[in-house]
Amino acid sequence: MGSGVYLCAMFNKIRVRFAPSPTGGLHLGGVRTVLFNYLFAKKQGGDFIVRIEDTDQTRFVEGAEEYIFKCLEWCGLVPDESVVHGGEHAPYRQSERKQLYRQYAEQLVKDGHAYYAFDTTEELEAMRERLKTAGSNSLQYDHHVRMQMNNSLRLLPEETQVLLDKGTPYVIRIKVPANEFVSFTDMIRGDIEFDTNNVDDKVLLKADGMPTYHLAVVVDDHLMKISHAFRGEEWLPSAPVHILLWKHLFGLDNMPQWAHLPLILKPDGNGKLSKRDGDRLGFPVYAMDWTDPKTNELTKGFKEIGFLPEAFINLLAVLGWNDGSEQEIFSLEELVEKFSIDRVHKGGAKFDFEKAKWFNQEWIKKLPVSSFQFTVKEHFAANGITIQDDTYFVKVLELVKDRCSLLNDFFTQASFFFKAPANIDIDSIKPKWDEKKQLFFAELVRAYKLMPVWEHTELEKELKEIAAANQLKPGELMLPFRIMLVGGKFGPGVFDIAGMIGREETIQRIEHTLSIIG
Ligand code: GLU
Repeated sequence: MGSGVYLCAMFNKIRVRFAPSPTGGLHLGGVRTVLFNYLFAKKQGGDFIVRIEDTDQTRFVEGAEEYIFKCLEWCGLVPDESVVHGGEHAPYRQSERKQLYRQYAEQLVKDGHAYYAFDTTEELEAMRERLKTAGSNSLQYDHHVRMQMNNSLRLLPEETQVLLDKGTPYVIRIKVPANEFVSFTDMIRGDIEFDTNNVDDKVLLKADGMPTYHLAVVVDDHLMKISHAFRGEEWLPSAPVHILLWKHLFGLDNMPQWAHLPLILKPDGNGKLSKRDGDRLGFPVYAMDWTDPKTNELTKGFKEIGFLPEAFINLLAVLGWNDGSEQEIFSLEELVEKFSIDRVHKGGAKFDFEKAKWFNQEWIKKLPVSSFQFTVKEHFAANGITIQDDTYFVKVLELVKDRCSLLNDFFTQASFFFKAPANIDIDSIKPKWDEKKQLFFAELVRAYKLMPVWEHTELEKELKEIAAANQLKPGELMLPFRIMLVGGKFGPGVFDIAGMIGREETIQRIEHTLSIIG
């Protein structure tokens, strides 16, 4: 399918949706789903809708919804319509649409595509036990067992009515036909066919009157005029139920086009990347920090460990997509321009944290320091350094930015510009330290005190002259000098550092080391 012919006659606008259930942290796979939906819509001037699928009240997690919107905001993926942004199809929270769904479930019952099921938990358990004993390899509620169960298909209409009148709790189940094939064309995977014999009679409306995900997703995609639905591959097994519902309720011609996105895999390629893999291997899988309100357990996010949103978006886009060239660095605007669903791979994409950091490093190099200065400043403040002089701060960030792959690296790479290092790596100086060097640095201090201008090329010249006069090679002096100023073997040019931190601080740091090295 070429770009530009995505819109079928039934829809007059591209409308996509991200439909998260607010149950916890937002996995990077979820953000990639948002991103692909967003890029596809924006490329064609379409709408991006966020709908909160919170019909399963048992999975409700305090704060999860607000957190999702914060993550989207951080990523710069702004919805056109949502709980927060409003829109003509409000409400966008399914729990607030509860009264909408029943009529569709009842319609399906009337048309013979669904039925009332009164089975109790014990009866359902007994059914599974019977199936187990009979050696059945499926324990599903489906066409094999439905006529032995307590439902409106087996009961007489009068019996069903009595139960309904008595207020007996019931659910409405879809009646999946036996021996049929349900098929659709996935935009990534092509034609897919399901044997209905493997599909169970899913619950559509629960005893509490809430729809299940299956009914709500179909009804809402219809009412919200969704033209395309991209979601994770894990939803593929649900597709036959959704297709049957579309067929019976709204007609297949009105169904959105589906694309089931490939999984993001563990680094070794063995299965889906989970939060546990991140914990085990020491990297985040959530977009932002998430604190579980029940356990108070904090799970680190990409944002908080120092990723730029530009890099996060970029690395997610290329997990399973490329534009056909060697290009790897893309801005969101470029992605909107270049994205095409035809180039999304079918196979899962392995997550590589080192590569993710490489993207971030490239973005740190690419962006002006001013675009992340504030975030880094906050990180410094959180680590006890309050920045007073922004001009100086920006100069420092410029000087060290090529050495940082995470925003949080700036603190390690640059804190010594603001505060003398707490520890001096004396052990790295000692082996080659002698009287001659001790005298050299004492002389350097004297000379530096008298320098008319404090400027890095002058500082270098002065050091070289004193070194030459003492028959010392400047090369042997650089390492101890660096360690005196920054505490260890890292950082930008030594004279740049001395130039920046100033005369008094440079001299103090040299003298401090001379006093402890003794
Ligand atoms: N509510 C589903 C989820 O939590 C959405 C699946 C879909 O997009 O259809 O991922």
